[in-house]
Amino acid sequence: RSVMEKILQRKSIRMRNFQRSWQESPEGVKMLELRKSLPAYKEKERLLAAIARNQVIVISGETGCGKTTQLPQFVLESEIESGRGAFCNIICTQPRRISAMAVAERVSTERGENLGESVGYKVRLEGIKGKDTHLLFCTSGILLRRLLSDRNLNGVTHVFVDEIHERGMNEDFLLIVLKDLLSRRRDLRLILMSATLNAELFSSYFGGAPTIHIPGFTHPVRAHFLEDILERSGYKLTSSNQLDDYGQDRVWKTQRQLLPRKRKNQITTLVEDALKHSSFETYGSRTRDSLANWNPDCTGFNLIEAVLCHICRKERPGAVLVFMTGWDDISCLKDQLKAHPLLGDPNRVLLLACHGSMATSEQRLIFEKPPPNVQKVVLATNMAEASITINDIVFVVDCGKAKETTYDALNNTPCLLPSWISKASARQRRGRAGRVQPGECYHLYPRCVYDAFADYQLPELLRTPLNSLCLQIKSLQVGSIGEFLSAALQPPEPLAVDNAVEFLKMIGALDGNENLTDLGRYLSMLPVDPKLGKMLIMGAVFRCIDPVLTVVAGLSVRDPFLLPQEKKDLAGTAKSRFSAKDYSDHMALVRAYEGWKDAEREGSAYEYCWRNFLSAQTLQAIHSLRRQFSYILKDSGLIDSDANTNNSLSHNQSLVRGIICSGLFPGISSVVHRENSMSFKTMDDGQVLLYANSVNAKYQTIPYPWMVFGEKVKVNAVFIRDSTGVSDSILILFGGAVTKGSMAGHLKMLDGYIDFFMDPSLSECYLQLKEEFDKLIQQ
Ligand code: ADP
Ligand code: MG
Repeated sequence: RSVMEKILQRKSIRMRNFQRSWQESPEGVKMLELRKSLPAYKEKERLLAAIARNQVIVISGETGCGKTTQLPQFVLESEIESGRGAFCNIICTQPRRISAMAVAERVSTERGENLGESVGYKVRLEGIKGKDTHLLFCTSGILLRRLLSDRNLNGVTHVFVDEIHERGMNEDFLLIVLKDLLSRRRDLRLILMSATLNAELFSSYFGGAPTIHIPGFTHPVRAHFLEDILERSGYKLTSSNQLDDYGQDRVWKTQRQLLPRKRKNQITTLVEDALKHSSFETYGSRTRDSLANWNPDCTGFNLIEAVLCHICRKERPGAVLVFMTGWDDISCLKDQLKAHPLLGDPNRVLLLACHGSMATSEQRLIFEKPPPNVQKVVLATNMAEASITINDIVFVVDCGKAKETTYDALNNTPCLLPSWISKASARQRRGRAGRVQPGECYHLYPRCVYDAFADYQLPELLRTPLNSLCLQIKSLQVGSIGEFLSAALQPPEPLAVDNAVEFLKMIGALDGNENLTDLGRYLSMLPVDPKLGKMLIMGAVFRCIDPVLTVVAGLSVRDPFLLPQEKKDLAGTAKSRFSAKDYSDHMALVRAYEGWKDAEREGSAYEYCWRNFLSAQTLQAIHSLRRQFSYILKDSGLIDSDANTNNSLSHNQSLVRGIICSGLFPGISSVVHRENSMSFKTMDDGQVLLYANSVNAKYQTIPYPWMVFGEKVKVNAVFIRDSTGVSDSILILFGGAVTKGSMAGHLKMLDGYIDFFMDPSLSECYLQLKEEFDKLIQQ
């Protein structure tokens, strides 16, 4: 032990020498100047003293004041300076992988190091961290996973939980676990960081932990609501009748075709149309009364275009940040703007996107200064609200919505809808404009809509299915799930917990007594949704891992099939070329991916993607995720290193279909044929519709009695996004809780009925499977 101590002491001295020499170097001095200009730096001593004195503290401060990049760094620096560098171990969690990566890179630059030296990061399936790393930025999910195997966080000295005001599910979960851990680890320091000021909630959760606010300076930002935008021009509307006539036959062009054509949209059409055809300034005002009813389901692109035009033409220079609802909206709007004479001119406007899945090179551009006389316009998701700070923003355009998953426990259906943000979010978005000089914020909704916003957003724990979470709670071995969750800041409804437990029993991850099964234990180790984890395990056991890897990677990234609004039909035809009558979106994905790999080998990947309406970026992401999954499977001994063995049954389409079914179950609907129509009914008797881009959407009839699907989404009706037809025999064999025991039971039960299999190739494969299974059981 004392030998170890000596080694660490020596290392600490080396760390201190390095830190001092960097801080004295010209670049280091310059960097320190820059850091000293941040509001957080002025509080350095006060913060360090508070951390030393208290086990838990809550820190709040304006976004951009230096919480994330500075605070953990202060602790690291002061430990190093006091000669204890090698003894400290600081973890700082982020809700999003991209911010964990960006911040780690920034902090290592500030320390004059490369990533992976004293500062590293770890996000799902990826990370850069070395033996000298003492400050680790990771996602909150990663820390939770670590707590599974290391319940006391041995060796960790400080934990920073960042962005707690967002009330992400993982953060809320972490707080329960950490609160419990603090009593066992008296020496552990917990620092909670939040952007907005609801610090009291967290402070009282931790028994009145002290709160510290970092006063920040921001310039005033003028807020313009929709009516202000309209009123400044001379457009006049005489009667509300005119309003109705005007909007009657126009479909809101950019609107998803799924949304109903209700009256509220007519007003939007009016606003948009007028804006498109007149210039921003000559646009007119309307009565407050009609604005009160203004409630679009999402904000029109043309409105954004008009406002952007106004800013670029009439306002002073300065970067623009546009808050949109999601990646798909951003890319659609970007395409539209590219065609605009002013906004699409790269010599005058630099259009950038900022969302969770952007490439690192694009990410850097966001922070950089644009060339002179070029206006930077960043289209962002609500990620830019708090976790990423772009310094030169002067104008903010806020569409007032964010895509959030909501969860309807009663119908057990997750919904993904753009919904109105909270007052806190709107304020936060506005604040982004005042970093360097007084700013302007255009809220594209009336003030009365803002007044109706909730103060804060509902915590994620109360609006998402708890399947994954409950599985993790089980593997933490902390007793009853319900009891555990009742210790949360705001506990979820018991019904939501029951649903999750039922689900986990149904897929065989929990047994009748709510104990983890073998399958459940494996599933809790895989960093994917339990359904997808099960598909991977089944694919490994049944030796058809390649296609299954593609399906799972595709379902966890996003659909690589693009669906441009104006070329829907062409895109649909292109997709159906991959389906070859097998009535499966998942198989189409597998074919598209394999075709892409071939095309890549021949050097024609670009043409291939172009011709087939495929996103090369998404396919690339699927490719790398596949590789990471297969490492994990190898690591846990589920597949071996020989690709041939792992794929000895991959050619068997019915088997692959079965594996897909085993993973997606109970996402299953029956196919009901009527005279010349077809409808789909789920297990709970609900009616679902096929997503327009599904290969199955073009058929009049489908020769399968069942469809399994990955995701059920409530928009205005309930849609299933991707589906695969399966036969009765597949459903019997693979649907339901497939555990070692029950699978053997299934097989035995089916022994006598083998002749009745409708699908001859399946019965052949069944024999092989049975053999494999017998072997497996004997082991
Ligand atoms: P907070 O966590 O309080 O929101 P941060 O610590 O993330 O603030 O950021 C503090 C400052 O550091 C920001 O104002 C920004 O100017 C700067 N900064 C952060 N990340 C980068 C980066 N990748 N490149 C350049 N500057 C950055
Ligand atoms: Mg931050």
